[in-house]
Amino acid sequence: MLNLTYTYRLKLNQQQSQTYEAWLEISRRVWNFALAQRKDWYNSRSCRIDACSIKSEYIIPADAPRPTFASQCKALTQARKTNPDLSAAHSQMLQQVLRRLEKAFIGMWESGRGFPRFKKLFRMRSLLFPQLGVNPIEGSRVKLPGVGWVKMQLSRPIPDAFVAKQAQVVKKASGWYVMLTLQADVNVPRSAPHGQAVGIDLGLKSFLATSTGEQIARPLFFVDLQRQLRLLQQRASHKKLGSNNWRKAQQKVSRLYEHIHNTRLDFHFKLAHYLCDQGGMIFAEDLNFKVWAKGMFSKHTFSPGFGKFLSILEWVCWKRGVYFALVNPDSTSQTCPNCNHYTGKKELSQRVHHCSECGFETDRDVAAAMVVMQRGLAAVGHTVKMLGEGLSNSSLLTQESPVL
Ligand SMILES: [Zn+2]
Repeated sequence: MLNLTYTYRLKLNQQQSQTYEAWLEISRRVWNFALAQRKDWYNSRSCRIDACSIKSEYIIPADAPRPTFASQCKALTQARKTNPDLSAAHSQMLQQVLRRLEKAFIGMWESGRGFPRFKKLFRMRSLLFPQLGVNPIEGSRVKLPGVGWVKMQLSRPIPDAFVAKQAQVVKKASGWYVMLTLQADVNVPRSAPHGQAVGIDLGLKSFLATSTGEQIARPLFFVDLQRQLRLLQQRASHKKLGSNNWRKAQQKVSRLYEHIHNTRLDFHFKLAHYLCDQGGMIFAEDLNFKVWAKGMFSKHTFSPGFGKFLSILEWVCWKRGVYFALVNPDSTSQTCPNCNHYTGKKELSQRVHHCSECGFETDRDVAAAMVVMQRGLAAVGHTVKMLGEGLSNSSLLTQESPVL
């Protein structure tokens, strides 16, 4: 079984977009209602049973069960019988709103994310349809619940043997999009390890370093775009909530946000393809990003989205027939790639790896990437050839990033 997600632009007519606008709004209200229900339940249990809360009293009986996905779905089905707004919207789609809320709570319990928040006006942006009818795609049209056939801008063809299983309709600043989950009932084998091996180290200074000595700089335009975004957000926050100017300012913010997202995605894909050009095997560190981001590196690591990049890299490798694997990340920057000597922790400011044992010297991130590559090769059963001779250190340090 193979799943792909393809995104297409939708050309909704006025009536269709009105329907989906209304459904977004009703989804938002369902989210807020269900969240309020859960919040009240928690608050009613936050003070001691034999004491009174100073602020307010909650009158939820002590034996009332905690609202769950199942109980809220049941309540939703009941409410649909009497509420025309609710019954006008697609029932499975509304259930998905409750499922998303459940996921947000699970994220809070298990991954330490924040308490789910209420959604302000226009903050609900997507509708998820978990099932589509039989043959939902004909040429460049897709049949969506509630609005029937809709034209898509078929920017790339839907691959043969794939069937659209579910659809997520998203309203972005630049218009409506549909993300189709395509499924094929085939078993695609992962490519076997072969060819040149490349290790990569996701860095603090540059975006990444490769075992061949290249350093890919973090694109500068992101800094500029982020600054622009902050400025626009600041401006928007001074406008009167709900006013025309406020709406215009919000529109500007979301357009720029979309642009940043697309630019980053583009950079990630190009970089992934560039790496695939260099060899038949790519190895990266299996970083637990959550722990890493919370630790001492938090300021440096969060922004470039390493986790996203690795999943894109894995996907591109699979498409290109390149072997991809993650290796143990422990102390990759504390080992000498040339003689395997443990060199000890480096300070963040220490940019050069220098081995006191064998005298090998190179950039610290490149050295880490070399260790990653050696670990990867060892894991796939290749003998590890120690580097060093014939490899001029100075050439490693002066190689420049490619133009991406
Ligand atoms: Zn050494």
